[in-house]
Amino acid sequence: MTEFESLKSRLKAEPMKWLVTGVAGFIGSHLLETLLRCDQTVTGLDNFSTGRKENLSQVKEAVGSQRWSRFTWIEGDIRDCACCQKAVENVDYVLHQAAVGSVPRSLEDPIRTNDSNVNGFVNLLWAARCGGVKRFIFASSSSVYGDERNLPQTEGVIGNCLSPYAVSKRVNELYADAFSRCYEFDSIGLRYFNVFGPRQDPNGAYAAVIPKWISALIQNKPAQINGDGTTSRDFCYIANVVQANLLAATVQSRAAVRQVYNIALGGETSLNSLFEMLRERLAKIYPHLRNADPVRSPFRPGDIRHSRADIGKARRLLGYEPTHPVAKGIDEALDWYVRNSSKETN
Ligand code: NAD
Repeated sequence: MTEFESLKSRLKAEPMKWLVTGVAGFIGSHLLETLLRCDQTVTGLDNFSTGRKENLSQVKEAVGSQRWSRFTWIEGDIRDCACCQKAVENVDYVLHQAAVGSVPRSLEDPIRTNDSNVNGFVNLLWAARCGGVKRFIFASSSSVYGDERNLPQTEGVIGNCLSPYAVSKRVNELYADAFSRCYEFDSIGLRYFNVFGPRQDPNGAYAAVIPKWISALIQNKPAQINGDGTTSRDFCYIANVVQANLLAATVQSRAAVRQVYNIALGGETSLNSLFEMLRERLAKIYPHLRNADPVRSPFRPGDIRHSRADIGKARRLLGYEPTHPVAKGIDEALDWYVRNSSKETN
């Protein structure tokens, strides 16, 4: 039995109370689903800025009404201190996902990004500390590596931040570290790398590349690759991210807390081979896509060419073991992407 399997059994035997912020978003809704499947009691907080009620309905359908009854949700904003205080009442663990989660959006409106990602973060961290929360797990990002080009990226070596979004995530890590020193408050930051999976918004203005391409291909629109396609990323399936959050919240070893971890697959997939994987699978449903080609446009200035995480620290200290390589993740998520991308065309 893996570390994660035995953790899920332990949680079922001894349910805890969790707060998931950004619960109506892509990652938050998956955390909610897994926690409810483990018979946990969950409070969710979201302002529905990018999150969707439809995501919560899908979780409800997946877990059934009995488990769903253990979930309470608050429509509210982490920029509001009183709302944060209410959300952490009687909570054991916080999984903090709420943020303006997009680099382009942060370039267009750094003040809004700062309000949610920095001010909102401190509001929630302080409420959690004052409310007696056992541990605070938060979503950081691979963007904190900035212009550091050495691969694989290891937690101790970061570069200059290249966007207001990256600054906000780095500041989160600094605040969490300061809170552990000043108040003995336990937290863990998880630097996610290019997460993908069901409920990732294929229609959003800044959709990630996988839902964006699937949506485009199905609608016979151009799927665009910036550059020659050799650009690579460490794409990480959502199930791996959920596993990391639950392990981080409950890990016993003192050496493992008050740390940041890369959460990724620990591999590199080029955009060309990603496109190939998607085309091959979609062509089984839509034969005319067998010869579909991407439309190539110039490299975007400032884009990092390659990214790959060293996940040794998470393996060693958290017992993290990714269960889903990229192809397995795509196989699991494809049906959802297809159903939800086609909705738009109907
Ligand atoms: P998402 O946009 O689907 O989810 C974010 C959720 O937070 C949304 O439901 C949104 O409505 C909510 N929210 C935003 N501002 C809020 C506020 N002020 N108060 C309350 N709720 C608010 O994005 P996601 O992909 O699920 O990302 C979750 C977290 O993971 C974010 O912190 C993001 O920065 C981080 N992250 C994501 C990725 C990725 O590849 N998806 C990579 C690195 C880091």
